[in-house]
Amino acid sequence: MIRDNLEDVRSRIADAVKRSGRAEEDVCLIAVSKTKPVEMLMEAYEAGVRDFGENKVQELVAKYEEMPKDIRWHMIGHLQTNKVKYIVDKAYLIHSVDSVKLAREISKEAQKHGKCCDILLEVNVADEDSKFGLSCDEVLSVAEEIATLPAIRIKGLMTVAPYVDDPEKNRPVFGKLKQLSVDITSKNIDNVSMDILSMGMSGDYEIAIEEGAKYVRVGTSVFGERNYSINKEN
Ligand SMILES: *Cc1c(COP(=O)(O)O)cnc(C)c1O
Repeated sequence: MIRDNLEDVRSRIADAVKRSGRAEEDVCLIAVSKTKPVEMLMEAYEAGVRDFGENKVQELVAKYEEMPKDIRWHMIGHLQTNKVKYIVDKAYLIHSVDSVKLAREISKEAQKHGKCCDILLEVNVADEDSKFGLSCDEVLSVAEEIATLPAIRIKGLMTVAPYVDDPEKNRPVFGKLKQLSVDITSKNIDNVSMDILSMGMSGDYEIAIEEGAKYVRVGTSVFGERNYSINKEN
């Protein structure tokens, strides 16, 4: 089942890439495996997936321990400062940085491991009360401040778009994140690059690719529906 799902998602990604005149290697699928058991992740792994997304620190760490070591683990969920120490050496990229305080902690913990941690700034583009993330207005000043920290590197922006019936409705949201990245690039801040846009989920990843996504985070369309009655985590 997962193999078939992946085939479908990959061919849709390829079509969207073609439509938008982009290069295939510009876009990368992150299989969002939160709440799913390791056996299912291994199926995806065997079908070639090497990028997995998790939104809980404990779950990411547990799966990290069990799964092959050539996997890139993406932390895509809200991160508390007191949990940073558990994942700073395990996450390939932290997508969900939304405060200077959190960034400071990441930099501090990364320094202990003698590494530099790559992050994205999460932006609440649609300004939804229920969502984490910086407002569009504060992204630049926060980026400037985080850029001065010693062991952290801003690689781009991430957004979680609203839940909509028609994915076209999220096109302006993705367009706005792209524009924000262009604006920030033009400021030439040391230690800040805007190479990565992480946007698009099962319902709207094709539109996100057309608007410039580098990473699409797809869960349901790869692994099937999540069981919310058992696991109430998102
Ligand atoms: C769960 C989740 C996804 C994947 O959502 P699907 O609709 O299942 O594809 C993507 N991004 C974030 C931040 C998530 O929490």
